[in-house]
Amino acid sequence: MLIRWKAESDAAGRAHVIAALVAVGARYFEIVGGLVVVSGQGAWMDSLATEHAVSSVKKLSTPYKLAARAVRPEGTRVRVGDLVVGGRELVVVGGPCSVETEAQMHEIAHAVARAGARMLRAGAYKPRTSPHVFRGHGVPGLVMLREAGASARLPTVTEVMATEDVADVAAHADVLQIGARNAQNYALLEAAGRTGKPILLKRGPSMTVEELLLAAEYILATGNWNVILCERGIRTYERATRNTLDLGSVAALKRATHLPVLVDPSHACGRRELIAPLSRAAVAAGADGLLIEVHPRPDESWSDAEQAISPATFAELMGAIATEAPLHGRYVAAPRGVTDEETITANRDRIDAIDAALVKLLDERIAIALEIGRAKRAIGHATHAPEREAVVLQRVAELSREPSIVRAFAAIVDATRTAQQHVDDAAE
Ligand code: PEP
Ligand code: MN
Repeated sequence: MLIRWKAESDAAGRAHVIAALVAVGARYFEIVGGLVVVSGQGAWMDSLATEHAVSSVKKLSTPYKLAARAVRPEGTRVRVGDLVVGGRELVVVGGPCSVETEAQMHEIAHAVARAGARMLRAGAYKPRTSPHVFRGHGVPGLVMLREAGASARLPTVTEVMATEDVADVAAHADVLQIGARNAQNYALLEAAGRTGKPILLKRGPSMTVEELLLAAEYILATGNWNVILCERGIRTYERATRNTLDLGSVAALKRATHLPVLVDPSHACGRRELIAPLSRAAVAAGADGLLIEVHPRPDESWSDAEQAISPATFAELMGAIATEAPLHGRYVAAPRGVTDEETITANRDRIDAIDAALVKLLDERIAIALEIGRAKRAIGHATHAPEREAVVLQRVAELSREPSIVRAFAAIVDATRTAQQHVDDAAE
């Protein structure tokens, strides 16, 4: 049950409602502007709506309560330093599967930052299917990750696998990752939640969306609302990919919960050649960001080599995503290198990617205008319609933040008219 306070409610009025909940033994959580009641149901619920301090009472029909979208319809923005996850910015996290060496971490941190990643990932505690392979450096790995992040000015995210390691991981990393295998380790969820640090919670390979949200609920119930969910593929009968990326869950989660949702295409598909298409599909499905494994020399990765992409491939993918994000109401921040020279080169590459996309769109626009011209000629109308051109420019003026864009559009309208004219001339 979701109770919203009236704006003019006073402390005494709100205390009266809380006393009524305590009297019936209902468990509740205070949120900004109201309460979420997570247990206890009965006729007394109806009487709350008539309390002076209460503006509305809404039943929450899902088993997860704190995570329900209705609790924060505007969406949760998780802050990591000055980075915001869950806002309009599409946040990309990049880095290797494992922390290997100081040099590897330094090299990759700078490479992903240059390409526009906003957070650095790498595991110091690795959940490996076999106990006989590299399982991470532990605390020395956390130190290497932290130092690499600081040198590239990127916040860091890394997995914590055991309750007893929570303090160490929280001391070194900006975001604590709960991995797929531990996503229903409730003691770990609570211990991580109690640090108050942002938590990246991955979906377990056999968890339903509802179970994922109930796992998130464990963290939220500690009072820590800095939870980021991550779809990383689920176990199905399909063997063509390592797991099956469930993008339906991303679209469903965006409606079910206020928490931000990232997509990890790397663990989802396990094949480097599929990372780009799945990343782009994830953005189209509404993901708030991506988590991608990138290694300076992918084939030499100490873990998950088959799914690692190179910095060059990552940079190319970032260009594609940055170009497409605005079509989905998002943006990818302009990349910042550690030096200004790096920043200039990286942003020139980004502009080249955007220009290539713009040219394709403009070609498409002209093709469509020519079809309109053909239809007009067929019914004996003049192809040139100055009133329509004025409407187009007016709409652009309303859409764009930049007045000079209207002038650029006047040139596009001009070019379209010229193209139509050529067809008209040829038709005569
Ligand atoms: C990881 O991100 O390093 C990882 C092990 O992922 P998952 O828990 O999703 O398998
Ligand atoms: Mn991995």
